[in-house]
Amino acid sequence: MKVPENYQPAPSLLKDKIIVVTGAGDGIGRVAAKTFAEYRATVVLLGRTLAKLERVYDEIEDAGGPQPAIYPINLEGASEKDYIELSDALHKEFGKVDGLLHNASELGERTPLANYAPDTWQRVMQVNVNAPFLLTQALLPLMEKAEHASIVFTSSGVAQRGRAFWGAYAASKAAQDNLMQTLADELDGALNIRANSINPGATRTRMRAAAYPAEDPNTLPTPEDHMPLYVYLIGEDSVGVNGEIFTTK
Ligand code: NDP
Repeated sequence: MKVPENYQPAPSLLKDKIIVVTGAGDGIGRVAAKTFAEYRATVVLLGRTLAKLERVYDEIEDAGGPQPAIYPINLEGASEKDYIELSDALHKEFGKVDGLLHNASELGERTPLANYAPDTWQRVMQVNVNAPFLLTQALLPLMEKAEHASIVFTSSGVAQRGRAFWGAYAASKAAQDNLMQTLADELDGALNIRANSINPGATRTRMRAAAYPAEDPNTLPTPEDHMPLYVYLIGEDSVGVNGEIFTTK
C-alpha cells in the first residue's frame, strides 16, 4: 500500500490529538515527532536518551508547536509495571491517546546465526517485539477514549523474507508485522482503533549507516521525505484503513 498520490494534509489535521512516538530522539522518530507537532499534535516523546528528547522538545517549542511531553524509558529493561505507570501518567495528563507510533528499534548484530550472540538476540526481540506488545496493551484503554485512534508499527524489507546476517532484526520485524495484523484483525469493526505498518525503506539515519557503513548517505531519502505517509496513517485521513503494510516507494 502507498500514501494517496499528492496527499496534502490539512494544516491543523492533528490539532488536539495526543500522539506517542517511541524512539523520538533520533532518526525517523525525531522527524515524525516534529512533523506531527507541525500539524498541531501534542506529542509524547518516548526514548532512552534524555538529552536527545530534550533537544527535540526545544525544536518543537522553537517552531511554535504545541508543548510536547517527555517520557524517558529504556524499552530494553521496561516491564509491564513501567508501561502501566506510563499509561496512568498519560491518563492523568491527557485522558486519551489518539496515535501511537512504534518507531524505536535495535539493529543488533550483522552476523551469521551460527555466531549470533544470544544476549543480543534477546535484547533485539525485547525492544522490537515485546516492548511494542506491552506498550500497545497498556495504551489500548486510552486509545478507546479517543474518537479515532491509530497505531503505526515499523516494518522493514527483511520482514517479508529473512536475509543472511540480519538475525534477530529480521525475525523481530516479521513478528512486528504479524503482531500488527493480529491486532488489526481483533480491532476490525469492534473499536475506533486501527493498526497498520510502515516499511520506510532505506533512509538516511544512524541505523542505516550502521547497517551499511560503505554506503554514501547522500544517495538515500531522508526521514522528511517519508512524512506524508506517516502523517496520513497517524491522522484521521486514514480512518477505515486497517491491517495494511505501507511502503514509501
Ligand atoms: P535510529 O537508530 O536513527 O533511531 C532509532 C531510535 O530508537 C533512537 O531514537 C533510539 O534511541 C531509539 N531506541 C533504540 N533502542 C531503544 C531502547 N532500548 N529504548 C528506547 N529507545 C530506543 O533508527 P531509524 O530512525 O533509522 O529507524 C526508525 C525505525 O525505522 C526503526 O524501527 C527501524 O527498524 C525502521 N527502519 C529504518 C530503515 C532505515 O533505513 N533507516 C529501513 C527500514 C526500517 P537513542 O537515540 O537513544 O539511541
